[in-house]
Amino acid sequence: MDFKSKLKAKIFHTVGEAADGLGMEAYVVGGYVRDLFLDRGSKDIDFVTVGSGIELAQKVSEKLGRGAKCTYFKNFGTAQVKFRGKEYEFVGARKESYNRDSRNPIVENGTLDDDISRRDFTINAMAVSVNPESFGQLVDRFGGVDDLERRVIRTPLDPDITFSDDPLRMFRAIRFATQLDFAIDPDTLAAIARNAHRIEILSRERIEVEINKIMASKKPSIGWMLMRDTGLLDQFFPELKALSGVEIVKGRGHKDNFLHTMEVLDKVAAASDNLWLRWAALLHDIAKPVTKRFDPSAGWTFHNHNFIGSKMVPKIFRRLKLPLDERVKYVQKLVELHMRPIALVEEVTDSAVRRLIFESGNDLEDLMTLCRADITSKNAEKVRRHLENFELVMEKMRVINEKDNLRNWQPPIDGAQIMKLFGIGQSREVGEIKNHEKECLLESDTPNDLNLALKLILEKGEELGLKPDPEELQAISTEATAR
Ligand code: ATP
Ligand code: MG
Repeated sequence: MDFKSKLKAKIFHTVGEAADGLGMEAYVVGGYVRDLFLDRGSKDIDFVTVGSGIELAQKVSEKLGRGAKCTYFKNFGTAQVKFRGKEYEFVGARKESYNRDSRNPIVENGTLDDDISRRDFTINAMAVSVNPESFGQLVDRFGGVDDLERRVIRTPLDPDITFSDDPLRMFRAIRFATQLDFAIDPDTLAAIARNAHRIEILSRERIEVEINKIMASKKPSIGWMLMRDTGLLDQFFPELKALSGVEIVKGRGHKDNFLHTMEVLDKVAAASDNLWLRWAALLHDIAKPVTKRFDPSAGWTFHNHNFIGSKMVPKIFRRLKLPLDERVKYVQKLVELHMRPIALVEEVTDSAVRRLIFESGNDLEDLMTLCRADITSKNAEKVRRHLENFELVMEKMRVINEKDNLRNWQPPIDGAQIMKLFGIGQSREVGEIKNHEKECLLESDTPNDLNLALKLILEKGEELGLKPDPEELQAISTEATAR
């Protein structure tokens, strides 16, 4: 491969000339070189020099002139140059050694070979010279080009040592396999299985970064399958592992819920880039193992798995260091509601449709994407029929929503008005009255009818022994007539 023509940007020559001026060697290394081969856009560029990375960065910054900004970290011997929206990293070639309890190595200055040998995979362990004399020459000590052509992830050195030294590399191996759709070399894969327990020294935040890169990939199931097969799942995500396998009682088995989940996840990923919708797909059946029962007449049942699953979501998010804000609530909501559209296919009533529109609010489309993906029968005719019925439900939703605008629906009389009407403060009674109003309106054909709302409120108020204030009552009645 001709790197001279691949390294088109001026920066490569600028760095090479700066390095020459300092009497140093300089190389582009790592992910950028790999991505050149793969014609994959790569945003940051890493340079290694045999010598001081900081000195080189300063020189480069000087050469670039106005608009270049150099920052450096003396303790780490690293420097960064920002120029016209791009970021360039500089570091001196280094040698690393590890002790057992930490993934932070002891670092010394080293040769280019030392630096390349400490890198995680052969495809990430290539360098290309940028010094004018040797511009574009590839240094590939471990067969990185071959592995790129064979589409294989392989460690340059003994994989057991590589993974034991820094267990994050196991997740990185699986993450690259997923992103690039590469296989993991059998020896490397077997070493991941042997060292899976080493992830105990990793922080969950580091794992989270890799997992979300897997989730953002085109086909996230590749990564989850590898994590299951290597035993990594047992270490950090037992609930997901528990979905795996089929139990047979009296000759009747249920489907493998792990494989089903993988299929749903990939289908959702094909339909949407929304990371949290993908998480909802991964977790939609998470409570199946804990709710599983065998009933001699009904066969396998998973009663309430949607509801119990939604309750499991925050605990999983907390452990995996996923966000605990509105994003976890969104995932919970989709897990809880994921059976509802299917139920509608079987029995579609206006009030059930209204209720679902109201409860899913702005997430209705996402819910439907999840539900469509959830239909994974092997029977093509059955899938076709289901999807067809689904379209009918969607049409019904559209019609009902157009009429009553239920997306962001609120009952016509709110809590403040209820308090004023009965001359009471915030209390359990207000909640009960409001709930009665909401429930009955959703059952009715006219959820926005103010007269009906008032009638419901008075009815519940009376039941609770409350008397309406005549003036307030008059005011609301007048408004109702005017509408
Ligand atoms: P991407 O930026 O797409 O995540 P990358 O390969 O550039 O991929 P970085 O994390 O940016 O990954 O790391 C840059 C380079 O540093 C890698 O290509 C690899 O050579 C090396 N590297 C990064 N992390 C490790 C690690 N944990 N162990 C060994 N080498 C590593
Ligand atoms: Mg990178």
